[in-house]
Amino acid sequence: MLDCAIIGGGPAGLTAGLYATRGGLKNVVMFEMGMPGGQITQSSEIENYPGFYQHGKTGMDFMDTWQEQCFAFGLTHKMKKVERVAKTGEHFTVTLESGDTVEAKTVIVGTGSTPKRTGIKGEDELWGRGVSTCATCDGFFYKGKSVAVLGGGDTALEEAHYLSNICAEVNLIHRRDEFRASPSMVDRIRRTENINMITDTIIEEIEGDMMGVTGLKLKNVKTEETSNLEVPGVFIFAGHNVNNSVLKDESGAFICDMNEWGQVIVDLSMKTSIEGLFATGDMRIEAPKQVVSAAGDGAAAALQVIAYIQEQA
Ligand code: FAD
Ligand code: NAP
Repeated sequence: MLDCAIIGGGPAGLTAGLYATRGGLKNVVMFEMGMPGGQITQSSEIENYPGFYQHGKTGMDFMDTWQEQCFAFGLTHKMKKVERVAKTGEHFTVTLESGDTVEAKTVIVGTGSTPKRTGIKGEDELWGRGVSTCATCDGFFYKGKSVAVLGGGDTALEEAHYLSNICAEVNLIHRRDEFRASPSMVDRIRRTENINMITDTIIEEIEGDMMGVTGLKLKNVKTEETSNLEVPGVFIFAGHNVNNSVLKDESGAFICDMNEWGQVIVDLSMKTSIEGLFATGDMRIEAPKQVVSAAGDGAAAALQVIAYIQEQA
């Protein structure tokens, strides 16, 4: 029986592992289906993690020492994909993709979320080289420059507004002339001088060279008119898929409370509606979707796990 099963080895899962093992728990296993590190390993540069300020270091470089540090304190990594988590009486059963099961007293889930891709020509090739899904992460690289934002939801408009404080000009491109975002948000965008709203328009192609994005080929879907927009960066906000499938039972129902967008409802200690089950990082409600906050969640959850196990003993 494990003291704690951690699912996901991104910043949230790794930090949970570090705190749980340093806090005295003996049997802590992190199930990560790939190499530990999480989404940030796809990043070409990270500038906003306090204490790590090394120009030119990639997300992969950044995460390298995290695993080393965690394993030094006794965290075990099993490179396994978890199928589902179920509460069976007092304990949890973690079912792996292979069908094998593991029993655990507590579970911390940190399986993240995945930004949706649009399939636009050039998106994959220039991903991380001018195509971004995170204004907080990458906006500063375009300080004083003109950028494009794709999407008409709350995220696109909020991020466009955030970028308007950093960039000289923000071109908000949306495929319709009506927005999913709340009317108050749309109104705020309309009132922001350096945001150009380009509606009824699709991005046909993201163009670039060895250095990254150089511009966009646009098409107005009503007039069929095409145009070019020269920008060094485009932010895509086409929605997120929350990686929450491990929290579904065999009938497809969630085992804990979720909000309408499939994010896990937690309190400030990362407790879910199920005792002994914690959710952390990008998959939880109100997640800032940053490494620093995911790590904070992992620490908070692990401290709760230690207290919970002490209470049960
Ligand atoms: P993740 O990092 O998504 O980790 C989840 C892990 O769970 C993954 O490793 C995945 O393989 C694993 N997993 C999923 N399902 C299962 C399963 N069923 N079984 C086993 N394992 C599973 N943030 C910043 O603060 N600064 C930045 O500059 C920055 N830049 C970014 C650049 C890019 C290109 C991207 C994609 C993100 C960036 N972010 C940045 C955001 C940051 O990476 C995330 O907020 C953070 O990684 C979230 O951590 P997490 O642990 O919640 O989830
Ligand atoms: P979303 O509401 O699903 O919006 C995604 C946007 O991307 C839509 O405008 C969609 O266009 C566009 N899009 C999707 N695929 C595309 C493609 N292939 N090409 C071009 N455009 C594409 O996602 P979200 O903005 O991330 O929001 C998710 C949920 O979180 C929403 O319910 C939102 O209200 C909520 N949220 C709330 C807040 C807040 O309350 N402060 C903040 C952020 C998010 P169409 O509109 O034409 O489909």
